[in-house]
Amino acid sequence: ASAGTLLQNSMSRNQSLFERAQRTIPGGVNSPVRAFRSVGGTPRFIERAEGPYFWDADGQRYIDYIGSWGPMIVGHLHPEVLEAVQRSLTSGFSFGAPTEAEIEIAEEICRLVPSIEQVRLVSSGTEATMSALRLARGFTGRSRIVKFEGCYHGHADSLLVKAGSGLLTFGNPTSAGVPPEVARETTVLEYNNVGQLREFFASLGDETAAVIIEPIAGNMNLVRATTEFLDVLRELCTAHGTILIFDEVMSGFRVALGGAQALFGITPDLTCLGKVIGGGMPAAAFGGRRDVMAMLAPLGAVYQAGTLSGNPVAVAAGLATLRIISRPGFHDDLSRRTERLVAGLVEAARAAGVPFAADSIGGMFGLYFAERIPKSFAEVTQSDIPRFNAFFHKMLDAGVYFAPSAYEAGFVSSAHDDAVLDETVARARAAFSATA
Ligand code: PLP
Repeated sequence: ASAGTLLQNSMSRNQSLFERAQRTIPGGVNSPVRAFRSVGGTPRFIERAEGPYFWDADGQRYIDYIGSWGPMIVGHLHPEVLEAVQRSLTSGFSFGAPTEAEIEIAEEICRLVPSIEQVRLVSSGTEATMSALRLARGFTGRSRIVKFEGCYHGHADSLLVKAGSGLLTFGNPTSAGVPPEVARETTVLEYNNVGQLREFFASLGDETAAVIIEPIAGNMNLVRATTEFLDVLRELCTAHGTILIFDEVMSGFRVALGGAQALFGITPDLTCLGKVIGGGMPAAAFGGRRDVMAMLAPLGAVYQAGTLSGNPVAVAAGLATLRIISRPGFHDDLSRRTERLVAGLVEAARAAGVPFAADSIGGMFGLYFAERIPKSFAEVTQSDIPRFNAFFHKMLDAGVYFAPSAYEAGFVSSAHDDAVLDETVARARAAFSATA
């Protein structure tokens, strides 16, 4: 055998798949965070999953704390979801014409999230936020929108924008390919900065179509909005005729059955949903005030559409998932599990003498290599990222898959039982000691 073949044989399957993937897929992945760029090392190629676990191409089992980045709230291959999907599949994959199941899921969403009077299904969170913004612009006849630093709302042009040099200056694109003219219409403000928010509204509120926010942010690690911040935001949006959009693609059905808006007791004008409502299949939604939703085609002048919107198989997976999580006590139990994990990790870090803090809400958690739980994007960037990366790899080697970035939240499912959570903590003890 040539030296090349020997090298090939000594490679893990993950490594050889990664090399092969990079030949035909940019960076070897279909979504950037999967490439392990920020933590380094070889991404794991997953072959199958069940309950709280998945297995990679080398046969290594991992306790999965990303849950497909949120959707898998009842664990992988939950028997009821699997059955619903199988049943739906045998009736056909897609029709491009309406189905009764779409009405059922719409009714269920409106029941669980009372601010949503009407809802439209789409296939991804990006489509949901993009469409909600177009709708808000169409409804108000205004162009400017506001987002907050550290919040992620998918990859539509007007949302890939960072703050300009001063409060009232225009936003700058964070991605090549986003026209500066588009970015100019987006103002980026600081999360949880009430003074700055008031200042902005005093000068530009009346020309602002919408403010979009993750009321519990899960894309800069986990950062909670303060109640005061959201109360003031609601008040200012109402006063200035600005549409308040809660992006609950991640927090919806995850932090509580009614999402973050139920926890905070705030009624947004529009809400974006995704992840959990597809139960692992591509489904997302946006909805809210009836008078605003009435602007959508075919009734109104705001165009929005989708070949696979309301796909029957995705709807079946979503409905089955929503039914399971609607059972009494589901979220109390999920919260308890997540708190058990977080408390265990905090204790293990303390025992190892590692500066560490952690937070959780419902089935979502944040791990920070910092003394305190952060309240803004700037605070998250000050955490010890190299130490997070070292911890991530120790845990991965020990069969625990946390998000491969210090800027992502983690997810617990109802399939993560106490034994799985305690096993995670036991492995974390060794990992913290090794990184101390
Ligand atoms: N909004 C939030 C809060 C998200 O977390 C995400 C994805 O992580 C999106 C929007 C975009 O959703 P998708 O990746 O389905 O396009």
